[in-house]
Amino acid sequence: MTTTSEIQATDSAHYMHPFTDHKGLAGKGARIITKADGIHIWDSENKKIFDAMSGLWCVNVGYGRQELVDAATKQMQELPYYNSFFQTTNVPAVKLAERIVGLAGDNFSHVFFSSSGSESNDTNIRMVRHYWATLGQPERKVIISRNNAYHGSTMAGASLGGMSGMHAQGGLPIPDIVHIEQPYHYGLAPTKDKDAFGLEAAGWLEAKILEIGADKVAAFIGEPVQGAGGVIIPPKTYWPEIQRICDKYGILLICDEVICGFGRLGKWFGSELLGAKPDLMTFAKGVTSGYLPLGGVVIGKRVADVLINQGGEFNHGYTYSGHPVACAVALANIDIIESEGLVDKVLKETGPYLAERYAELANHPLVGGAETCGLVAGFALMKDKVNHIPFDESLEVGMICRNHSFANGLIMRAVGDRMIIAPPLCITKAQIDEMMVLITETLDATLADVT
Ligand code: PLP
Repeated sequence: MTTTSEIQATDSAHYMHPFTDHKGLAGKGARIITKADGIHIWDSENKKIFDAMSGLWCVNVGYGRQELVDAATKQMQELPYYNSFFQTTNVPAVKLAERIVGLAGDNFSHVFFSSSGSESNDTNIRMVRHYWATLGQPERKVIISRNNAYHGSTMAGASLGGMSGMHAQGGLPIPDIVHIEQPYHYGLAPTKDKDAFGLEAAGWLEAKILEIGADKVAAFIGEPVQGAGGVIIPPKTYWPEIQRICDKYGILLICDEVICGFGRLGKWFGSELLGAKPDLMTFAKGVTSGYLPLGGVVIGKRVADVLINQGGEFNHGYTYSGHPVACAVALANIDIIESEGLVDKVLKETGPYLAERYAELANHPLVGGAETCGLVAGFALMKDKVNHIPFDESLEVGMICRNHSFANGLIMRAVGDRMIIAPPLCITKAQIDEMMVLITETLDATLADVT
């Protein structure tokens, strides 16, 4: 099994991939990624590809970081595994918990570790329900989320998420999870004043709380910027108003920082940039830059105090909670982010530069609603952007664009007809220029196909 076609045949025979239509893949064969360095990946035919998605929004410090390899090797030699159950702990997990609490700010005191974003959101559900039950309000169970949100693939994660395709398989969502509309200004109300729309969209939360009864609502969950839903950047009025509403009804606020955390928006956590003060924050991906699986929940003092002082034993945990090797890699990863000043660089240099370049991209005939926030960006492919007419869905223009992008050596993702990117935080301005050339060429090739 050495040639591309041999690997593809075995892959097709035995490996069931996530989110893949295997029948559709048959005959084509999966792309085999064999190596990576910096912001580039290579396939088995030695084609060099610009990875503008940082893997799956996770390779924040870029590929090929020897420091992370060294940290994993050293920890594996010393203590490759031990668990944190039964009154036991390990040094990398303790250090990482302290470090993450320090980055998250005064509102937070503890971290619960898992191995993924999905598991962490399951933890959130269990934690908020246990919190309210401990306070004598067990009927406060409902969690409000948003359409097109992505919070993972477990039963609970997919239920919290607002992806209709996921709900359609397996009878989701599970009970007591409800959804409101996402704050997508360009898609829902492009002619309205943006700030007014932000307040209106936050108001949908209040309407839902009143419909259900505040005494039944445990929490609201949202990604500061919705990622997999198409990089939906809310108006600046949105999150402060969401916060005001949560405070008014005493509802816990969970910010899912799996994409936005660890510098992507130009702050350690996206909620800080957008004006929310969550009680719980989900993290994963960027905490290790994807080099090893690690996730968790940063727990605010409000929740931690109740759970620790009144909640008794929290009957919840994973074999790999606080995995010493994953935690050692996370510490080395945070060292790199800090020593290279990547968070500030996103805020002050690369983020604003990407915004400038995306403003120019808006001149392309296909591009509507081009927006960026730190190092996430998205735009909609429009049939007639002047009159705000989208393409017919059946044309799958997003897929056409994505295929041109791959062929052109660029990983750009399609969510319907929205094209999105999230490049590594170590990207330079010169590499942003290089990426913009590839994006423009991709758009020109797409335009030629659809006109
Ligand atoms: N939450 C958000 C915001 C995500 O983007 C993702 C994954 O993309 C998840 C949760 C799920 O994380 P994981 O795939 O590690 O379970």
